[in-house]
Amino acid sequence: MSKCASAQYIISLLESFAPKKLAIEGDPIGLQVGSLNKPVKKVMIALDVLESVVDEAIEGKVDLIIAHHPLLYRPLKKIDISTSKGKVIEKLIKNDITVYAAHTNLDVTSLGVNEWLADQLQLTSTEVLSTTYEDKLVKLSVFVPRTHEDQVRFAIGNAGAGHIGNYSHCSFSSNGIGTFTPLEGTTPFIGKQGELERVEEVKIESILPESIVKVVVSAMKKAHPYEEVAYDLYPLLNKGEELGIGKIGKLPKEMGLQEFVEHVKTAFGVSHLRVIKGKNSIIKKVAVVGGDGNKYIYPALHKGADVLVTGDVYYHNAHDAQEEGLTIVDAGHHIEQIMKIKLKDILEQKLKNNKYETVVVESNIITDPFTFM
Ligand SMILES: [Zn+2]
Repeated sequence: MSKCASAQYIISLLESFAPKKLAIEGDPIGLQVGSLNKPVKKVMIALDVLESVVDEAIEGKVDLIIAHHPLLYRPLKKIDISTSKGKVIEKLIKNDITVYAAHTNLDVTSLGVNEWLADQLQLTSTEVLSTTYEDKLVKLSVFVPRTHEDQVRFAIGNAGAGHIGNYSHCSFSSNGIGTFTPLEGTTPFIGKQGELERVEEVKIESILPESIVKVVVSAMKKAHPYEEVAYDLYPLLNKGEELGIGKIGKLPKEMGLQEFVEHVKTAFGVSHLRVIKGKNSIIKKVAVVGGDGNKYIYPALHKGADVLVTGDVYYHNAHDAQEEGLTIVDAGHHIEQIMKIKLKDILEQKLKNNKYETVVVESNIITDPFTFM
């Protein structure tokens, strides 16, 4: 059966791995123009929402644009359709095209822009460059009759509990006796009304991020045979996964600066880039930040980067980096266009898995404003 997903549903798929709470404060992510309450036959992934991109969307009969850079970044005082911004908004509304922005939430998530850039540079052992979010951890312990031990263990594991490093379904079990007396009006799985029942039970304990508690508890209840499930949730002081802006990691092999520059050009398909030469002639440890890299010069230095690859660097910040001996490779902000194909592939797969026929396309417009002459 063919069906197309609603805009709201598509956004819920996106927010399942790039939730809004990961965005940097003040970043105007989310719905920007139009409505999410509509069916979507075609969604287009774009880096920027320029007029040429909107024309491409109109031509391609697109219902929803998911863009990395917010169309409306600063508050507008008016929508004057004689200005280019006003014209873009007018075209979007007249053609019933919704615009949704996934900006710093898509930078910060572990499945997002900075990770994709690091992958493209073939960096290994990557870590977050500048932490902006730390997941809180919770311990779940649930009491299950022996007969249903594995069923519940798999259900909570499949929902994401017990995911530690490269291991999934981590848990601990201990045996004991559970007691209960079914009262009037109950239909107990085991035992009779009014009689104290003793049951051999297993306590299953597992760790999970606070952000998925609801999903895990609901999966646990579904798999559990009891009407009233006995379980506890404890907040933990253990550190959860750190997320943030930028990545730092190692190259597969050491490179001289010229070789590294060629490596970056190939990785991002750019013909020219600007280099601020620091003191290291051998490059091994690389920091990468997709957009404006000005604030990440010192984090890159503190984490021992030989080079910072980024998009926008101001003249005076370039001096600071040079004085500190940090090499910067400014490959242009447009290298973030990698998000178009990556996000397209992820959403396409998720929609297909859920049997939706909504088509996902990427914008083919190059929105880099800079030309080398
Ligand atoms: Zn950007």
